[in-house]
Amino acid sequence: MDTNTFLHYVRQVIDHHASWQSQWESFESDETLGLDKSEFDGVLKSFFERLEENYPFFHPAYVGQMVKSPHPVAMLGYLAAQLINPNNHALEGGPATARMEKNCVEAYAKLFGFEKPLGHLTGGGTLANLEALWVSRQLHPDKAIGVCENAHYTHSRWTKILNIPTVTIPMTDKGRMDLEALEDLLKSESIGTLVATLGTTALGAVDPLHKLIDLKSTYGFRIHVDGAYGGHFATLANHPEYQDRLKAFKLISKADSIVVDPHKHGLQPYGCGCILYNDASVGRFYAHESPYTYFSSPELHLGEISLECSRPGAAAAGLWLTLQCFPLEESRGFGPILQKTLQAARQFAESLRQSTHFHLYVEPDLDIVTYFPKASSTQDISNATMALYRAAMEEESPLYLVTVKVPSYTLAKQHHDIVINSEHTTLLRSCLMKPEHLDFSTTLVPQLEAIYTSLPDESLSIGLST
Ligand SMILES: *Cc1c(COP(=O)(O)O)cnc(C)c1O
Repeated sequence: MDTNTFLHYVRQVIDHHASWQSQWESFESDETLGLDKSEFDGVLKSFFERLEENYPFFHPAYVGQMVKSPHPVAMLGYLAAQLINPNNHALEGGPATARMEKNCVEAYAKLFGFEKPLGHLTGGGTLANLEALWVSRQLHPDKAIGVCENAHYTHSRWTKILNIPTVTIPMTDKGRMDLEALEDLLKSESIGTLVATLGTTALGAVDPLHKLIDLKSTYGFRIHVDGAYGGHFATLANHPEYQDRLKAFKLISKADSIVVDPHKHGLQPYGCGCILYNDASVGRFYAHESPYTYFSSPELHLGEISLECSRPGAAAAGLWLTLQCFPLEESRGFGPILQKTLQAARQFAESLRQSTHFHLYVEPDLDIVTYFPKASSTQDISNATMALYRAAMEEESPLYLVTVKVPSYTLAKQHHDIVINSEHTTLLRSCLMKPEHLDFSTTLVPQLEAIYTSLPDESLSIGLST
């Protein structure tokens, strides 16, 4: 959306807000809330200067962390509701956005094939995962939670806080859950809930959920899917070209709960995660009394099924408006967007395989690509990675990269000539999560090679201390 169109709609949102307000008798805003215009102009100027210190997340040249600018539609929905400031804790906090939240949750439940769902939005994936692990403990107080080494750190952190015994499951060289190791552990350990990640934070690796479902029936554990990053790829699970690569996403309906982050691949600003349960009866664990709220209606108040109290109705409004324009479907909305990010990753991976100066680390399952400059030892690789990361930002056409630390032995398995002289190796990691990355991915490797070959020799050996 170009600036003029965006302005047109921002004006419409603000005009609509003013006309909504005008239903009530007008009153003067209190003088204590007044602003000296010239003073504010100065404050705003220095505020803008401070904001300069940011990376261009909106631009395809930002090929780093899992972040992009929200869609303008999300911002318009967010702004419109934020001007009112509804609180989705209880219906009396703002029924309109609470209903929008319920609609959004229904849309995700439909995508994942949950027939009797219970769920709500959260501040993010961390809170959403907390709720899922807490429900797991309530259901199986005497059993452990199985967490793979590849899982987001939040899981082992929450199980410690919740005081739930944890069984750590090893991962394979490709960063996926190691099924053989899991089966061995299942024979000796009592696992109540297993966490499967569809799209790990480090590599975008997808745990083989389709195989875990078989083990689930043999060993009788529950499965919680962490799809904070990858959940939206379920829109392509039946696409002829991607169904094989995304087969784990086909069986999400057989899992017991899932977390998805609309603020990662769902085009939303931060502050929007989602937890969904496949069995609405777990709502009983949330039961509590609140002397201040829930008086307005016998209809379900979202605060009755959420651990957080106040939550922004605006987050639900932004997501609702987005899902009307970009449905969670294969042929329109999210499907076409995510196809491009998958293709971008595939194309980038292919050019890396053919590169003289870079190695692909693992074949990407989704749209996160990990790679490293060729060097003779793991320490040299880490040094070169850091030098490249810094130099890329200083280019005339800068590239914004980020790094990831992996255990060095995983490199040695594939590249026998690399000397292992450090426990971990720092590699480059690029989340190609914008559809614009598809065109951009064709020139990325030549650009990286040009930067790499122009690095002064000494910068490669300065190491991590600079
Ligand atoms: C990002 C992420 C989280 C944490 O979610 P936040 O929204 O950052 O709180 C958890 N799990 C996975 C797989 C993630 O990618």
